Amino acid sequence: MRLDKLLANMGYGSRKEVKKWLKAGVVTVNGSVVQDGKTQVDPDTDHVQFQGVTVEYRPYIYLMLNKPQGVISATEDASHTTVLDLLDPEYLIYDLFPVGRLDKDTEGLLLLTNDGKLSHALLSPRRHVPKVYYAEIEGIVTDEDVDAFKSGVTLDDGYHTLPAELHIIDSGEQSRVELTIVEGKFHQVKRMFEAVGKRVIYLKRTKMGPLALDAHLEPGEYRELTEEEVQLLQ
Ligand code: URA
Repeated sequence: MRLDKLLANMGYGSRKEVKKWLKAGVVTVNGSVVQDGKTQVDPDTDHVQFQGVTVEYRPYIYLMLNKPQGVISATEDASHTTVLDLLDPEYLIYDLFPVGRLDKDTEGLLLLTNDGKLSHALLSPRRHVPKVYYAEIEGIVTDEDVDAFKSGVTLDDGYHTLPAELHIIDSGEQSRVELTIVEGKFHQVKRMFEAVGKRVIYLKRTKMGPLALDAHLEPGEYRELTEEEVQLLQ
């Protein structure tokens, strides 16, 4: 990438300001002063320094967000708050995007990254990555529902879902359940409950593959994944 873009991306100023810094001779690449912003650098292999301090370029960022209700899983939207609007400006240089979607009224674990390969792998229908949801359901969830979900249910468009594991936490006028599914059809959890005549009134994703939502994150809060967590996802 261009040296001036790298420095601007890393927060060393606008392209215009970066040009001034370069002209002043405070930037070195592999030990030599470079004054031309158009110079191509490889952030992985070239050693860039600004006033003698190494510029740390992180090619990939991985954030775990506890998505709040009322926010959409998109990178931009004219009328709604998006998950990117929740981030500190320092992250906006990295072209992050959400890995998959949660409905506007769904809370919980949403990964944000700029690692397209990892995102693709997590969302690939062939990988069957398990996703765990906590849900509150209007009405009584029964053992028959558990069996039906185990065999797969037929959604309103005729699609028959893969086996899913439904665990009843408690059942009554309003039931609390945990559901594990290995696919990600549009509104899948809500439509699975509709298929057995029930309505989801609250939905929160608590796990995606090996990653569990950090219980310390309030809705709207996020943190970077640890190196171990990133490794687990590979
Ligand atoms: N299933 C749904 O119905 N909604 C979500 O947001 C996620 C899964």
